[in-house]
Amino acid sequence: TANLKNSDAGKISKPASGSSKRAVVEVKNLYKSYYLGKEEVPILKGINFNVYDGEFLAIVGPSGSGKSTLMNMLGCLDRPTSGTVLMNHQDVNMLDDNQLAYLRGKEIGFIFQQFNLVPRLTAYENVMLPTYASKKPGIDYPKKAKELLKLVGLEERMKHKPSELSGGQCQRVAIARALVNDPTIILADEPTGNLDSKTSEEVLTFFRELNQKGVTIIMITHNNELALRTDRVVTIRDGLITSDENVEEHAIHMKEALEASLQTEIH
Ligand code: ADP
Ligand code: MG
Repeated sequence: TANLKNSDAGKISKPASGSSKRAVVEVKNLYKSYYLGKEEVPILKGINFNVYDGEFLAIVGPSGSGKSTLMNMLGCLDRPTSGTVLMNHQDVNMLDDNQLAYLRGKEIGFIFQQFNLVPRLTAYENVMLPTYASKKPGIDYPKKAKELLKLVGLEERMKHKPSELSGGQCQRVAIARALVNDPTIILADEPTGNLDSKTSEEVLTFFRELNQKGVTIIMITHNNELALRTDRVVTIRDGLITSDENVEEHAIHMKEALEASLQTEIH
């Protein structure tokens, strides 16, 4: 039928509304405050959204809007002041610190702006690190670590230390490390913030390839152009989600906002 041709079947990712996919992360009424002395400073002010299996989404917002704070909650690195985060339907509030660390190691692959590699360890040893905390039975991790380093194009650099690698190579080691435990999701906080534009391009292309293999990716960035390389853009401003739309809608709204601001300049 004519309808079938225009249907959305076959699209990899869809925004939260109308998606039939399994939710891998559910964030409900999330608040986070920090304390400066006795003064409570609210940073996240009621965040609600879900991430579905197989999505490639960006969380964008200006510096200081609370993106990294949100990443810390999504990554079980820190606890909410109130509200809930469900990771694969598991309420993280119900877990003690050890259980939380275990869940983190099992379900989440982290990628950071500063790469966060251990300087005295080789590329290979850095990739092996997460496997010490959360091992799954029946997996040959040394073999897997080597395969992942090959996958990111560092077959010849396994015994090199971070100081002997370029920024782009370090980030590729970090990506291999993030993948070693077959995480449910990859959480990347400003992953290209320390890379030149060509290397950033390579990282984004690699993310897309991973996503096409089924890996769920959440990329946090203050860079709107980078966000447009994903499928869904969640905008956060001053601790609240101000929009959550698929990338085509987001691009249109960005263009409209730009044109409106040009109009006001002219008049
Ligand atoms: P973004 O990643 O969007 O730049 P952050 O989440 O890092 O924003 O920070 C949001 C706000 O929270 C900032 O004002 C920052 O100073 C504050 N903040 C972040 N982490 C802490 C902390 N551990 N203690 C106190 N304030 C913090
Ligand atoms: Mg940040």
